[in-house]
Amino acid sequence: MPSKKYVVVGLGGSGLSAVHFLSKNGHRVAVTDTNPSPALANQLPPDVSCHFGAIDKELLLSADYIVISPGIDPRIEAVAAAKAFGISVISDVQLFIDALKNHRQHGHDIPIIAITGSNAKSTVTTLVGEMAKTAGISVGVGGNIGTPALKLLDIDNLALVVLELSSFQLEHISQLSARAATILNLSADHLDRHDGMDDYLAQKLRIFENCQTAVICHDDANLAQQCQQAIPTLSTNATIISTDSSFVANTADFYLYDDGQGLALYHHNTRLIATDELKIKGKHNLLNTLSALALGTAAGLPMPAMLQALRNFKGLPHRCEYVDNVAGKAYFNDSKGTNIGSTLAAIDGLGAVYGEQSLALILGGLGKGQNFGELAEFINRWVCQVYLIGKDALLIKQDLLAVDDGLANRLHHVDTLDKAVAQASSSNAQAVLLSPACASMDQFNNYSHRGEVFIQLVATLKSETTDGV
Ligand code: ADP
Repeated sequence: MPSKKYVVVGLGGSGLSAVHFLSKNGHRVAVTDTNPSPALANQLPPDVSCHFGAIDKELLLSADYIVISPGIDPRIEAVAAAKAFGISVISDVQLFIDALKNHRQHGHDIPIIAITGSNAKSTVTTLVGEMAKTAGISVGVGGNIGTPALKLLDIDNLALVVLELSSFQLEHISQLSARAATILNLSADHLDRHDGMDDYLAQKLRIFENCQTAVICHDDANLAQQCQQAIPTLSTNATIISTDSSFVANTADFYLYDDGQGLALYHHNTRLIATDELKIKGKHNLLNTLSALALGTAAGLPMPAMLQALRNFKGLPHRCEYVDNVAGKAYFNDSKGTNIGSTLAAIDGLGAVYGEQSLALILGGLGKGQNFGELAEFINRWVCQVYLIGKDALLIKQDLLAVDDGLANRLHHVDTLDKAVAQASSSNAQAVLLSPACASMDQFNNYSHRGEVFIQLVATLKSETTDGV
């Protein structure tokens, strides 16, 4: 096969993996990045031509293929011009999918389980990976999480791939042909990079192209309906498996049901596992477990191994993570709750466990132009006190009061996380939840830094609280 000229745009982890893969396969490769000295430049193979400091339009126009990193907006002039010129713009994940077709295991295709959504992608991707590992399968877990997809090709005896995919990656992937695919949920985020919600959904729906099984979540009736409508045109023979966590026996394949012996996860008429056997917290996480079970079932994972993995799974750090109990109050770190959709799920999820007006909520940071009024109904139901921190605290307060001015005496503008924890600790709440619905960079390095500071504040509180057990 004659070598092609590839230009890789963006030198992050996935860009670097694409350069190595293409170079190893005998293609001519150039790489360009706006950063004049990208940190990973010293890891490039020697024969790669580098164009740093700006995205070089002439370089892009000279390419046979452009591999675009998820962090680069494809609407920038250089990329748009190349597209208009008819040059294919693909994601590193597309290179991976094409390579996987030649990378068969014992003569069999290596199936892909593909996961997208506005929230919960990493949680479900990790959980499905754990299920496969517990079943003794050599599984590669990556994509938008941890390992770039192309690096999964190096795994010995690779037999299954679990991919987390963002809308930015899906935009440049075609014919994914997953064994099982899902859109977990959809809420407004990243709209700065998409032309509105319809475009955002359209990119996410590409995950179903030529899939064998589509997992559809009935909790979001609107999303479920859009998926049902789109799937037959994206994949003519796809089987559908449905999930529903609305606490009633219903027509979904995997669902939650209280049969008199307590709440349990069900598959059709089979009681799979009692929810008290699970370590992850919140109703939204129960929905995540249903999604993982549905995806694993579609890929043929054995149920006993999946249930064992569920019993062991503690969830990921900073995602509704149980921190400690101090003086009778439980503390949860949901610092990864960086948009309204995730915070809404955390409030609703923990509220269903602790009861009405049981939560002290710490909210705020950089609001990214979201309308926080959407949280008012859920705050009214589940939250007794709200502590507002960060740059956009007052904007959040305004949004909430515009929808429900009855919330006024529950909203406290405290500015910093340490004051929020101190005040929440003496509130009447049963559980304290950090779920900011905002980006963190006004007061912290990133969401994990914010979560670590919260955990430290809770530890200090515990050490100062003589009766804290
Ligand atoms: P992603 O990889 O999509 O960002 P994560 O698993 O990292 O997803 O979780 C991000 C945030 O979403 C966390 O705050 C988490 O608590 C929240 N979350 C978890 N499950 C759900 C769900 N089913 N619906 C909405 N938000 C959720």
